[in-house]
Amino acid sequence: MNPIVLVTGGSRGIGAATSKYLAKQNYAVCVNYISNKIEATKVVSDIEKNGGRAIAVQADVSKEDDVIRLFNTIDNSLGQITHLVNNAGILLPQIRVSEMTAERINKVLTTNVTSYFLCSREAINRMKSGGSIVNVSSAASRLGSAGEYVDYASSKGAIDTLTIGLSLEVASQNIRVNCVRPGFIYTEMHGDGGEPDRVERVKPLIPLQRGGTPDEVASSIAFLLSNEASFITGTFVDIAGGK
Ligand code: NAP
Repeated sequence: MNPIVLVTGGSRGIGAATSKYLAKQNYAVCVNYISNKIEATKVVSDIEKNGGRAIAVQADVSKEDDVIRLFNTIDNSLGQITHLVNNAGILLPQIRVSEMTAERINKVLTTNVTSYFLCSREAINRMKSGGSIVNVSSAASRLGSAGEYVDYASSKGAIDTLTIGLSLEVASQNIRVNCVRPGFIYTEMHGDGGEPDRVERVKPLIPLQRGGTPDEVASSIAFLLSNEASFITGTFVDIAGGK
């Protein structure tokens, strides 16, 4: 039986690259998105054109009812999930902590943290014969994003801790939980922070002197998800060009 994976935020950026990469490895893929149906449909079409199997499902993964509907749709359309990539995430315009409102902080935390808990819960409850989860964190969890988005960096710190705790909690169920921490990757996310060319600005500070591509993150996610990593759990891969 082919593995079945959910990629949250699979319509664009790292999630889209990961969805396509996993489809080429014979996963049936659920491409989740929140609002960009056109891009999600393009990812599904691309996978189908290459002979793969995929569905696009709209759901706001920070909302419990949406997450339950998302997993029920996977059960009914693809079958029992075997793998999960917790990837959907946001950052908001660059400001200092001294200016942050509770509304902003809560939006970042529910989108970037609550969603990973809810999707992990639903996946684990279905992974009766084991499974594998990869959380997409960020180099920001180590660096802190001072003056830009400490709320975002803190949400990724929570994901690092979730990875450690959850990996220990479910190891005896043969479910592995690992984490990737990308650095500066060329995606549209930086525009949401108000600086679309952010990677160009910071690249001289990156030891490898360049930003990363979504495909360079997808390949590490795929490795950690796969049986090639069968004795690896609770660990972190930094994909940040040396920073
Ligand atoms: P992106 O290009 O902005 O794409 C974000 C994706 O998340 C989109 O598919 C979006 O769906 C989806 N999404 C956002 N909120 C959602 C919600 N509440 N429910 C469901 N889907 C939602 O982002 P990216 O750069 O690929 O980032 C992906 C992950 O990598 C994030 O966790 C991010 O923190 C992490 N990361 C990125 C970088 C980087 O430099 N880009 C570095 C480190 C870590 P729509 O298309 O429908 O809007």
